[in-house]
Amino acid sequence: MAITSDWHIHTKHSCDGACMEYEALVKDAKELGIKDYGVSDHYHSRLQEPDIKASREDYEKTLEKYPELKGHFHFGLELSVMSDWEIEKIAKGDYTEPPLWGIRMGGPENNAPVYDITDEFIEKYKIEYIIGGVHWLLYCKSDKESIIKEQHKQYMFCASNPKTDILAHYLWFNPMDLKRWPEMEDPCKYHLEISETMRNELVCALKENNVAFEISSGLFMKEHPTTLLDEYFGWVSDMQRSGVVLSMGSDSHAENLRNYCNYDKVEEMLKHYKIDSSKFFCL
Ligand SMILES: [Zn+2]
Ligand SMILES: [Zn+2]
Repeated sequence: MAITSDWHIHTKHSCDGACMEYEALVKDAKELGIKDYGVSDHYHSRLQEPDIKASREDYEKTLEKYPELKGHFHFGLELSVMSDWEIEKIAKGDYTEPPLWGIRMGGPENNAPVYDITDEFIEKYKIEYIIGGVHWLLYCKSDKESIIKEQHKQYMFCASNPKTDILAHYLWFNPMDLKRWPEMEDPCKYHLEISETMRNELVCALKENNVAFEISSGLFMKEHPTTLLDEYFGWVSDMQRSGVVLSMGSDSHAENLRNYCNYDKVEEMLKHYKIDSSKFFCL
């Protein structure tokens, strides 16, 4: 099998209903031929510290039980891009119910994107790699141009931030945001809407900062028109040829890997577009 790594996997310690046990992950990874992989639970803000602590404890127990995984099974995080306005409010405790998903409404437009993480936190929980995820629009207007600009701003933030190792699931949109822009129900259309300049700017930032671009097999959880998938994988293939490192990520949220990973569908695309999986991101 061409796919032997998966760096984007959620366990039951992610705050969004992901439910995989470490034990199930290790079992499936072995059976599916995944040799190098990592757990990347969600970290939106400091409010997720208890989740990461619990996940780290389970990770260490798993390594103790399966010492042969050492050097192949890793502990990462998926960070969300947040706004400095909401992080300031969270830091001050300026909320009634703990905003586990951040403060998604009411922020000022054009807020600066941030990650709510410190070097001390990374060291404390021995975080080996970081995936940067664009998970929501940060208080922009609802017209197409504003949304495209906002998404691009956040992708560029991830691609330029020294803490990011991998840019997550390009083309994934939050269902709440899709309500604001229903024609994006097929997310591949986004790719056709954005300008050549924006695409090139992102590719340059990934390359210059050595941030890997994730091929998200989660893309196959929905049916997409072949032409749009072709457009996407054609672009990914060009990106690899221009020197961007690609990373494999299923973004699994289920109770096991096998029902979610769609590795076979991605493999077809890799073959068709001559994408070289031996050059994929690996720790
Ligand atoms: Zn994500
Ligand atoms: Zn994820």
